[in-house]
Amino acid sequence: MFFKQIQKYSDNFSYIIADEDTKEAAVVDSSYNANEIIKAIKNEKLQLKYIINTHGHSDHTAGNSELQSIFGAKIVAHKQSQIHLNLPVEESDILNVGKISIKILYTPGHSFDGICLLVNNQKLLTGDTLFVGECGRTDFPGGNTKSMYESLNRLQKLNDNIGVYPGHDYGLKPTSTIGEEKKSNYTLQPRSLKGFIEFMSQP
Ligand SMILES: [Zn+2]
Repeated sequence: MFFKQIQKYSDNFSYIIADEDTKEAAVVDSSYNANEIIKAIKNEKLQLKYIINTHGHSDHTAGNSELQSIFGAKIVAHKQSQIHLNLPVEESDILNVGKISIKILYTPGHSFDGICLLVNNQKLLTGDTLFVGECGRTDFPGGNTKSMYESLNRLQKLNDNIGVYPGHDYGLKPTSTIGEEKKSNYTLQPRSLKGFIEFMSQP
């Protein structure tokens, strides 16, 4: 599998996932990285099939229309998302990119349209739900702390060796694993829902 994390001009991460045999590819969170993404797709001679968004915040979708105008790929987001999209997805849907399977996990909390993407059951693209050492804010419009609590609990039940690939570069390193985050991420310490709501409301 071709897998590339891209970051330029901001702390937003974009990702390119591609099947090296069929050359089919998906971009996750185009963000402000369209130029870098275009270069990489052309260098690797990939065929862009999907432009997937972990949620509708503009810092994640900024490059969508440019990528679509060049490559004609389908814009994918959760069915409740308000963004311009071609392919709505929901919990447990599977997108195929060549032989790669991308499973949709509905993880609201930071936003009502938040999804995480489980790639080949090995890599989890967590958007603004889970960062290295942090979790997403819930105080923006569409945020919900109880939903975030449930989403984070769910992610912690995944296998420890699954890689964590977040939507922003907020941590000490750009990627992690579920197991490492369970040990070291202070937002994942065991808490009741009430305790988590108190924790998240602290400045
Ligand atoms: Zn966001």
